[in-house]
Amino acid sequence: MDRVSGDPATSEAVLAEMRRQHETVTLIASENYASPAVLESAGSILTNKYVDGVPGAREYMGCEHCDTIERLARDRLCALFGTEYANVQPYSGSVANLAVYLSALRPGDRILSHATGDGGHHTHGSPDHISGRLYDAARYGVDPETGLLDYAEIAAIARRVRPHLLICGASAYPRTIDFAIFGEIAEEVGATGLADIAHIAGLIAAGVHPSPAGHQEWITTTTHKTLRGPRGGAIMCLKEDAGAIDAAVAPGIQGGPLMHTIAGKAICFAEARTEEFRHYARQVVTNAQTLAAALETEGLAVFSGGTDNHLLIVDCEGTGLSGHAAEAALFAAGICADHCPVPGTGQEYATAGGIRLGTPAVTTRGMGEGEMQALAGHIATVLARPDDRDTLAGAREEVRSLVTGFLPPESPLKD
Ligand SMILES: *Cc1c(COP(=O)(O)O)cnc(C)c1O
Repeated sequence: MDRVSGDPATSEAVLAEMRRQHETVTLIASENYASPAVLESAGSILTNKYVDGVPGAREYMGCEHCDTIERLARDRLCALFGTEYANVQPYSGSVANLAVYLSALRPGDRILSHATGDGGHHTHGSPDHISGRLYDAARYGVDPETGLLDYAEIAAIARRVRPHLLICGASAYPRTIDFAIFGEIAEEVGATGLADIAHIAGLIAAGVHPSPAGHQEWITTTTHKTLRGPRGGAIMCLKEDAGAIDAAVAPGIQGGPLMHTIAGKAICFAEARTEEFRHYARQVVTNAQTLAAALETEGLAVFSGGTDNHLLIVDCEGTGLSGHAAEAALFAAGICADHCPVPGTGQEYATAGGIRLGTPAVTTRGMGEGEMQALAGHIATVLARPDDRDTLAGAREEVRSLVTGFLPPESPLKD
């Protein structure tokens, strides 16, 4: 707690946020709790140093210890995913994607990617993102009946639009992604392949989801979602692309690398090789599948009938609620989730009719199948009576007593 001492105004809000994180439950699929070691590095004196360049070739003096840290992070990331080269400097997953575009594309080139309304990410060519302005973006979706990617259809679109870059990876796709087939499609149409594993990186690292390594020339990720590290991004690629990607990240897009974050990444990549992490990743999937099945038992419609990974989508149509209304009711009960278009329906985020639920954060807190059953019961109760104050207050109290038994790993309240 002394981390935030010195400025009462900020400290108070940080402490209030810590209490919120403890006393409510986050089922936001992209959120997690970083380890004490990661948090410590993120708050370390490394924030004081400018280190523009890459290890061994910096623009400033005094970078030798930072070189050691960045080399550790790079080598550990390559070892974790079995890739030839890595750049660990991207400030975020979005910047990692931009850097790949800058290396692999020229303005006006065509990209083909998972549609945002079907679970894709806006940095893959949405009109409101720079990628959609600089590049000619075509999108593929999921089969509305099964909720699955239809690889024959994607191949047909790829043959028609002939993309320079074929992007796979999503933010709201509850099923396994076949990176090998995406690789074959890219090769057939002469495209470069990018796998954006921002959401599922931790599952891939633990071997509970197939890896894109060897199937896509480029891999981008965040480090703070299932991977459970500091907030940031990273890129993996072939050795022959090393110079191009380093130059694209900086000076192409970024200024000075965030060494305190890179140290946190080095720690996170080591943590991800432990048996404890593999156990966590397996439990993330078990919890998501348990939550999906329990919600269906409660009469809610789970899109695609379940999940293979860390997230699921509830189609709220049967409840009469929009995604935004469902999210607000759950929040009033201490359950944080986010609205999400139901894939295959033509909905966008503004008109979302679903909510996305993910289990990485609750799993890090140590919750298991029993807690998922209990949460499913609370979710169903709230969505059945979203306007009833007593229902919401009762659920909020029960959720609070359920989750305060499972504090996040960094909690000073544990002592
Ligand atoms: C979260 C996400 C990103 C962006 O990550 P930020 O660190 O928030 O910029 C990129 N791609 C996908 C698929 C994501 O889910």
